[in-house]
Parts: sequence; C-alpha cells; structure tokens
Amino acid sequence: MTDWLSALEVCSKRIRKEVLPLFGKADAATGFGKGAGGDVMKKIDLTAEKAMIDTLRNLGASCTLISEESGVKEIGSQPSDSYLTTDPIDGTTNAVRGIPFFVTSIAVSKAPYLRDVEVALVSDLIHDITYTAKRGHGAFKNGKRIQASTASSLKEAVVGINLSAVKKKNFLAPLVAMLKETRHLRHLGANALELCYVADGTSDAFIEPRGKLRVTDIAAAYLIVREAGSIMLGLEGEELDAPLTPTQTVSFISAANTLMYETIKKLLLSC
Ligand SMILES: [Mg+2]
Repeated sequence: MTDWLSALEVCSKRIRKEVLPLFGKADAATGFGKGAGGDVMKKIDLTAEKAMIDTLRNLGASCTLISEESGVKEIGSQPSDSYLTTDPIDGTTNAVRGIPFFVTSIAVSKAPYLRDVEVALVSDLIHDITYTAKRGHGAFKNGKRIQASTASSLKEAVVGINLSAVKKKNFLAPLVAMLKETRHLRHLGANALELCYVADGTSDAFIEPRGKLRVTDIAAAYLIVREAGSIMLGLEGEELDAPLTPTQTVSFISAANTLMYETIKKLLLSC
C-alpha cells in the first residue's frame, strides 16, 4: 500500500527541482502539440509531468494517471487500485512569463470521481508552500492546520473570479454583477492556488461561472477547500461531483463560509 500523501510530497519536491530553472524562460513555452485537456502542451508542463511519472515509478506506486497533459496512463502493476488526477502545472502562462503564481496539483482517489478524492496536494513551487489534505483529517499549509475566513460582507471581501476567455454574453453578466458588489475582485491565473487561498483565509471566495474549468485543475483543491471547512458547491447550491477525466469541466462557487456562499449564489442567480 502506497502512503499517498508522502508519495505526493516526494513528487512535488522533484517537480519543483526540475521546473524552477524554467521559470520565466522563453524556451519553457516551447509547444509540443495539444494535450489531453485541449491546451497546447508546453515544455514546462511536460517537464513537470515527466518528473511526476518518473517519481511514481521510482517509488513503485501503482495508479491510473489522469493528466491534463498526456491523458490517461497506467502506472505500475495494479493501476485500477488508485486514480491520480493531476494538472502538473496550473498557471502555465504565469510560469513561462515569470509571474510567480503557479502550482502543481495532484489528487488521489479510489474511484475516478471528484467526490471520491481522499488525498490532495497543491504545491506553490516558487514559494515552496504546500497545501495538503486527507479526507476527514483537515487541511494543512506546510504542515500547519488552516481554516477559511469568517468574512460576511461582499463589500470588503477579496474575491477571485475566473476571467479566462470570457467571451460570451452569459459569462459577462456574473462578472458585471460581481464588479458592482465588490471592491477587490481578482483573477491571479492559477485556479488551484486561488482555491487554496479561500481555504486558508487569504481570500474569501473564488468563482468559476463559465462551466469551463477542468476537473484536473480543481480535484486536489476541492478536498483542501472542504477539509478547511469552507464551501465549494455548484452555482445553484448543488453538490459538486463529476467524473475525473482530462476533458470534464465544472462551474462552482467556493466561499469561506455558508453566508458568503449564499450571498454570491443569490447575486449570480439574479443575473
Ligand atoms: Mg496545466
């Protein structure tokens, strides 16, 4: 039996070592065709994924890898025992441009569904800050227990919203509503880390209104948010569950607490 949390920590250390020399370097953005998630795979993405796979093999781990880059891959002799859902680099554009806000995200589950995620790691590689969670055992930042904020007013809240490729009219309505109601709206460019910021009280909410965020990006942060006592539900209050595949996408509101969640939900539903 693999101790998955330890294995993920070993993976993220190796990824950090391989990826940091590419930070902000032009050749980190060299393209290698479309990945399983639909985006162009860049050198920095493939470097991170290779470091992860090599480490898992060295550790003798068995799993089915579900990756935004190379898709579904069986590793070891019993690949159906565990599913490892990953975005090797979330925030690739930031990483290749030299903006210090990107992570490695890895989630482990016994079945390929979001609700089954049991172990999670999101690692802010530049700052060497690692968020982890085990289902039923809380969420941690570099080993210290975290919890979300108690903010109740949207006016002074720091709120993240995914603004990538907001083209259609129906994506603009929630954005305009949030701009009217909040002073501190952000999109920092690495969704998994923005969710961890909700979990540890750095921010108060993060919203994906477009239905376009891949589960590979959020599978680990989903458990971290929930184990920190914060909320992550669909736009109408429904439980968030989805099959873990490289192309599956979701919409959600993540908020520090129920009051904040309900305030944002009502606002978006009124659009
Ligand atoms: Mg990625």
